[in-house]
Amino acid sequence: MYEEEREKLIKELRQQGIRDEKVLEAIRNVPRELFVPEVLRHQAYKNIALPIGKGQTISQPLTVAIMTEALKVTKNMKVLEIGTGSGYQAAILDYLGAKVYTIERDFDLFKEARQRFQDLGLKIATLCGDGTIGWKEFAPYEGIIVTAAAPDIPKPLKDQLAVGGRLVIPVGSKTSQIMYILTKIDQNEFEVEKIPAFQFVPLIGIEGWKNEF
Ligand code: SAM
Repeated sequence: MYEEEREKLIKELRQQGIRDEKVLEAIRNVPRELFVPEVLRHQAYKNIALPIGKGQTISQPLTVAIMTEALKVTKNMKVLEIGTGSGYQAAILDYLGAKVYTIERDFDLFKEARQRFQDLGLKIATLCGDGTIGWKEFAPYEGIIVTAAAPDIPKPLKDQLAVGGRLVIPVGSKTSQIMYILTKIDQNEFEVEKIPAFQFVPLIGIEGWKNEF
């Protein structure tokens, strides 16, 4: 099902500059229609963000592709995701062979995503809580991906990144962000690349935005 729509999306992602064949393969094979509300399934392979309830969204496929490419996922790489949402980004990372740990602050979204992982037979570790403080128990991570907009880079996430690891995070205002790609060179030393311009829902927490809005 959705064969034609899928191929059209892959073609569009290529045209938009996505070059990593493994990332394209993951997007081709992970059934995005199962991560969106039933009434929106017909739109699952459009290159757009879609509402998933609780005022949140599943990110645009192009954004998922850019962030996943930036993370440079390898087999058995330990990756922490902040902002589980629908669970789609986590499923893409799992498809690429990562050992995925994901945190969601909203209890309803957390429960739905956990159920989806179970239904799909995906072994993804889930936690309901404030991802801005990371998940110390399993640190360090070789990759950390934040799928909500941060006012700044949370220090606990920098601390929980392994040397040589990469942290991908949209940073900026509540309405527009720049994607930061940090590579940890040494305990307190990072190399930084930046990609403009993104629009995410806010990262709310101790080391994120303070108020809900
Ligand atoms: N990665 C998701 C997917 O594949 O569907 C999309 C994420 S959505 C754009 C952002 C998510 O981050 C929302 O579900 C929101 O509730 C969550 N979020 C916001 N602040 C958070 C925090 N401090 N810790 C964990 N999750 C947070």
